[in-house]
Amino acid sequence: MIDLRSDTVTRPTPAMREVIAHAEVGDDVWGDDPTVNVFEQVTAEQAGKAAALLFPSGTQSNLCALLTHCQRGEEVIAGQFSHLYRDEGGGAAALGGITVQPLPHEGDGSLDLGALHAAVKGDDIHHARTRLLALENTFRGKVLLQAYLTAATDQAHRQGLSTHLDGARLFNAAVATGLSLAELCRGFDSVSLCFSKGLGAPVGSLLLGEADFIARARRWRKTLGGGMRQAGVLAAACHHAFEHHVERLADDHDNARRLAEGLRALPGVEVRACETNMVFVAIPEAHCRSLQDHLEDQGILAAVGPTTRLVTHLDVSGKDIERVIAAVSLYFAHIRSDLAGSEI
Ligand SMILES: *Cc1c(COP(=O)(O)O)cnc(C)c1O
Repeated sequence: MIDLRSDTVTRPTPAMREVIAHAEVGDDVWGDDPTVNVFEQVTAEQAGKAAALLFPSGTQSNLCALLTHCQRGEEVIAGQFSHLYRDEGGGAAALGGITVQPLPHEGDGSLDLGALHAAVKGDDIHHARTRLLALENTFRGKVLLQAYLTAATDQAHRQGLSTHLDGARLFNAAVATGLSLAELCRGFDSVSLCFSKGLGAPVGSLLLGEADFIARARRWRKTLGGGMRQAGVLAAACHHAFEHHVERLADDHDNARRLAEGLRALPGVEVRACETNMVFVAIPEAHCRSLQDHLEDQGILAAVGPTTRLVTHLDVSGKDIERVIAAVSLYFAHIRSDLAGSEI
């Protein structure tokens, strides 16, 4: 099957399974796993941060960051469609007593700087204390502009906030812009990175920050049940992905562009956006179910809705893209011939 539902569906490559099999391990809760320690150190250095901490998921890494930055009754400002607000089960509130102040996104995915400034609550016993600004890059595949990130984090710091970046797909931003990981992380007090998306590791995220921040996060990670024992088997996969699967994200971006171009040429299909490894396509409501079934018959998995997100990744080849375009084309050709038939 060609699976375009998400870039989380990748399977470990044979080479990755090989490094997993041979990883040197120890008990990471005791700090004894050499593979974890090397992975954390190497990535922290490349991101220009002092320390890093391995997590089983990006959700736990984001939550742990919020718990470390904020106390009960404090607040984080985030985009209203940000993953940590919408897609993480309300963990900040449920487990941390932290409220989220959501703000609308601008067309380019950013949060308006004036709105951000105004959202920071004054020192008043009626208000939650605003503690943190959390941004997401890439956001729905969009790379946030570097000048914006600098302005937003500078402004947040001037207003006494800390800053967190949900960089689940920051490597896509790095490849799309040519900027280094360190440049993309600059201005953020903490950054969460995922290795289980386009990079193709089965599991694994990292939280990065200053040494004392990571030391406090390590306590919260244990509290959350995220302390893992011989975690080197996971870190080995992530480290392999970090070394071998970053540059090739450019192939995913090329494939997304080719997919968008191919679909744009088909009558009945409206391509709304193509950003890094994501293509967003408008499908008339009446066709969603039948198109999804048709694609599945053709060996293609896609979550077809009024706005369909198609995601390219390690397990989608250029040839697969041609097959997807052909399958969508076939569907709309049938529809047109059916319509023509009914008119006669
Ligand atoms: C996938 C993702 C996460 C983390 O998800 P997990 O499935 O918990 O690893 C966080 N933020 C964004 C933007 C994501 O896409």
